[in-house]
Amino acid sequence: MRGQDDMQRSGIGMTSQRTRERLIQRLYEEGLSNARVLEVIRRTPRHLFVDEALAHRAYEDTALPIGHNQTISQPYMVGRMTELLLAAGPLDKVLEIGTGSGYQTAVLAQLVERVFSVERIQVLQDRAKERLVELKLRNVVFRWGDGWEGWNALGPYNGIIVTAAAAQVPQALLDQLAPGGRLVIPVGSGDVQQLLLIIREEDGFSRHILDAVRFVPLLNGPLA
Ligand code: SAH
Repeated sequence: MRGQDDMQRSGIGMTSQRTRERLIQRLYEEGLSNARVLEVIRRTPRHLFVDEALAHRAYEDTALPIGHNQTISQPYMVGRMTELLLAAGPLDKVLEIGTGSGYQTAVLAQLVERVFSVERIQVLQDRAKERLVELKLRNVVFRWGDGWEGWNALGPYNGIIVTAAAAQVPQALLDQLAPGGRLVIPVGSGDVQQLLLIIREEDGFSRHILDAVRFVPLLNGPLA
């Protein structure tokens, strides 16, 4: 018989393995193609990253509220951004701006060597930390701070992912990209923004404008 912990992790009813399989099938049909990314989404229990009252919706392909006016990103977008980061090969150090629930963090932690995650709302980050400990994902370090500044002391990074929309690309993040490094970031100040992929080339940066997306805004300064 499975222990209670196992039951919680693998889920029952609307959080069951079959519900999760349907999500993976849908993400595949929507164009996600990196088998490793899909496999990690399949085995990451998204229902543990939302309030119990929303757990039955955790495997819908939609963003959900996590309190403090913030949302857990839509699974498609988590997969899409992760694929873009990984497209040029395996990554050693990845900086994430906007820990939120920690779901994107957990997905990344299973695909790259080390994740550095910055969040401005401390209570969200504390909860995210607990979830990652529970899932035994130990290659993540967290910082409560302002993502506009990145995390200079531990850079440069091979990949940087921003999970909130910035009015413009933060200069500090460009500065903290290693040669060949990739930055995936939604940019814009309206309801709909553009997802950008910026790569640090030998002689400057290349910018690729990708999908129209909807993210909560990247705000200023840390907040207790
Ligand atoms: N990847 C997260 C998305 C959370 S929503 C998830 O799937 O759960 C975006 C997050 O960015 C929020 O938690 C918000 O508090 C955080 N955020 C907004 N502005 C920020 C800033 N300047 N620095 C750090 N985090 C910020």
